[in-house]
Amino acid sequence: MEKIITTPDPRLRERSSKVSKITDEIHDIIAAMVSASLDWENKHPYELSAAMAAPQLGINKRIIIVRDDLADKEKATFTALINPEITKTEGRLETDYEGCLSVPEIYGLVERPHKVKVKALLEDGHEVRLKANGYLARTLLHEIDHLNGILFIDHIKGKKDAFFHLDDKGNMQPLDYDTEVAGNTNLFPEDD
Ligand SMILES: [Zn+2]
Repeated sequence: MEKIITTPDPRLRERSSKVSKITDEIHDIIAAMVSASLDWENKHPYELSAAMAAPQLGINKRIIIVRDDLADKEKATFTALINPEITKTEGRLETDYEGCLSVPEIYGLVERPHKVKVKALLEDGHEVRLKANGYLARTLLHEIDHLNGILFIDHIKGKKDAFFHLDDKGNMQPLDYDTEVAGNTNLFPEDD
């Protein structure tokens, strides 16, 4: 079982390289991403694993997986997107909560464009062009950020009212920025 890496692992801050050929190794990486996502979800009863990027397994290749149904915990199938590229963002900016399997226990209110267009290869090598909005657009932007070494916390660094954690009952509670976030070198190792 591949292990999900977490901050401050430097592989999360690297730019991933393009997949030049969809080989058996690539199929194996995708299968490992799906199984790591489901394994994580089984251990987190209040949360759903919406997506994952290969660098979260310490593999710096441009591959993401996105859950086919982002709302239903019973429907746990995923689509892999290889070399995904944002071709356009549009619409109003929206602020919503994000979390990340690689940033344990922390949630943030992140501003993202409402609509996105993405071009990618499917696992069978066919090119697809997707139009997404709302939560799916947010998910795609979050995952493609991973391929460029960017985490959601980087977008809200310095914002005092944007950081949260889940309490024991699964409710979102604000974190005190000055004592719990600022200077946390787990989150922002470059500040060390
Ligand atoms: Zn993430």
